[in-house]
Amino acid sequence: MNLILSSLTDEQGKVENFLSSRTELYNIKPIGIGTPYVESLSSYISRIAEDHNLAVSALLSKVIAPMLNIDYLKDQLSQGIIKDTSHFINENSPVTLEYSNALELLTSRDDLRSLTMLNWQGIFSKKLFSRYRKWCPICLNKIKSNSKIIYEPLIWYISDIKKCEVHEVVLHDKCSNCKRNLPFLHKKLMVGYCQYCGSWLGDNLVFNKKNLTEEDTFIYQNYKELLANSSKQSIYPTRVFISNFLNRLMKKLDIRSVAKLANILELNPGTVNSWVKGRRQPSSESLLKIARKIGLTIYEMIYDNNKKLVLEIKKDSYLQQQKSISISEIEDRLKKEVNSKEPKSLNRISKEYGFYIDTAKRNFPILCEKVTENFNSYKEQKVKKRRIEIEEKLKDCLSKETPISLNQFSKDNGITLKTAKTVSPNLCKKVVKRYEEYIHELKRQRVQIIKREIKEIVNTLHQKGIYPSSNKVQENLENKHLFRKEWVKQAWKEALESLGYN
Ligand SMILES: [Zn+2]
Ligand SMILES: [Zn+2]
Repeated sequence: MNLILSSLTDEQGKVENFLSSRTELYNIKPIGIGTPYVESLSSYISRIAEDHNLAVSALLSKVIAPMLNIDYLKDQLSQGIIKDTSHFINENSPVTLEYSNALELLTSRDDLRSLTMLNWQGIFSKKLFSRYRKWCPICLNKIKSNSKIIYEPLIWYISDIKKCEVHEVVLHDKCSNCKRNLPFLHKKLMVGYCQYCGSWLGDNLVFNKKNLTEEDTFIYQNYKELLANSSKQSIYPTRVFISNFLNRLMKKLDIRSVAKLANILELNPGTVNSWVKGRRQPSSESLLKIARKIGLTIYEMIYDNNKKLVLEIKKDSYLQQQKSISISEIEDRLKKEVNSKEPKSLNRISKEYGFYIDTAKRNFPILCEKVTENFNSYKEQKVKKRRIEIEEKLKDCLSKETPISLNQFSKDNGITLKTAKTVSPNLCKKVVKRYEEYIHELKRQRVQIIKREIKEIVNTLHQKGIYPSSNKVQENLENKHLFRKEWVKQAWKEALESLGYN
């Protein structure tokens, strides 16, 4: 804290002293490498600055900035501008890589990527992290009271992680003293403390307790595995991972269409297709959903070579049905459906009972044909019936005393305009025409009424010996804004003329 309060000249002196005496930073060991609670890169930067007796601003602008390759980042940082890139520091972006490379060179370490999500960039799209620091106040107090080195684990910053696994409290993301969100990097960053007001972020009294759900636990398990192993592998997944994985999955399960795969995963077919084709990457949320559905963790999806995969997915009831229905059962189902009063399509039957259409067609071509025939004629009849119904309603509408618009008809009867127009363009035209005439007549009547009203007002004023000026007439009109209209002015003039004014 003294460091933060020290004057600028002092700081300048320290930097110069530092730069002249060393070309490197001390090789300080990051906390928790190889464990789920590995330190974040921004936490490491804060500790490095403290250990070298430098302000974070000086460390960033004088020591790290000269080592960077991305020009705009280098320029900004050497001018002390941190804000724009702060939220990328711990994730899996080119900015993250710049920082970790620079620090690896400066500290002669080769494991600083594991303080970020860089090793997992192949499986995660961007936006894996929240924009601001998050922490468990109880954990921070525990770390402090055990007089361990204070640090902030990377796992806290992941958006999908909302609670502390140990204390089951919602992670904090605002300083309880100054109520501000705290960006990852800041010129006065100090791990465990608020960079704005200097308050300690730990607390033993936390009221926002929320038990971990089964889903929370699964999410934790996934990220803990990835973080604990992010320094242990020699090969990491690339951008083609998810596409390869889904293709392998389809092959193993003998799924021939992406639609079916999407059905099993309970995800949108178009989206799943874009992953299968390698055009897009799933969000972390979708990735977790896939993992959960197939009973693996993300880490197992990558490294277990799918040993458990087939075993797990067979538990899926839908697939079980699909595997267990026999040829004779297919025949029974088809026979039953042929006699049904509400015929279904072959496609729907195959889905409901879980067999392949191809299998059914190969074994029972005549039955299948009959099913399709029944369904088509049933559909045709249904369409015909509906058509008659709509026509009746349109005729009904035309015989009503007060005409309504086609829009109103559509709303009242729950029939879309498109359907109505397709079923009977002529009747629709009649409805439209009748309504237009009705509206026209209403308008005509209204004009007459207003003209009469004006004439009466003019006469009354005249009889009282008052000149019926436009102002006077307006005052007496029910709707005063009417006088803006040309035909209303005209009616007033005519009324004046009939009384001999000109
Ligand atoms: Zn905690
Ligand atoms: Zn604060």
